[in-house]
Amino acid sequence: MAANKTLTMIKPDAVRNGHIGAILNQITEAGFQISAMKLTQLSLADAEAFYSVHKERPFFGELVEFMTSGPIVAAILEKDNAVEDFRTLIGSTNPAEAAEGTIRARFATSIGENAVHGSDSDENAQIEGDFHFAGREQF
Ligand code: GDP
Repeated sequence: MAANKTLTMIKPDAVRNGHIGAILNQITEAGFQISAMKLTQLSLADAEAFYSVHKERPFFGELVEFMTSGPIVAAILEKDNAVEDFRTLIGSTNPAEAAEGTIRARFATSIGENAVHGSDSDENAQIEGDFHFAGREQF
């Protein structure tokens, strides 16, 4: 397994719209290995905790409501330079600004409902991976 990890979530919009398979295919084609994965749904408390860094932002309520609105796929991905390479693969937060061919350009519908999450640092990748997965679920 490669040295670096990142945590992704395929968000409720992309799950609802039937894009799980296409997104996982794009992720593995880009050289990421999946070392943990589950279909799950965040509770209100889960979403508030996961996104607590954004709690003062005006969109926090909308974000929590959206992220609890249906199932998600959570996964730990491994690759050299995983955090930065995955941020490049998913594209900008706002899909209107995301580079052509990126996951958000292909599958996101708005800045809020933007198809996927990707960790923003190695430290947060570890915290977010442990948020979703017990040790025995991480391979
Ligand atoms: P990311 O690291 O690219 O996911 O972006 P941020 O960390 O800035 O924001 C976290 C998440 O909050 C984004 O992925 C969006 O789902 C949501 N978000 C960010 N900005 C907005 C906004 O202006 N409106 C709404 N509704 N959601 C937003």
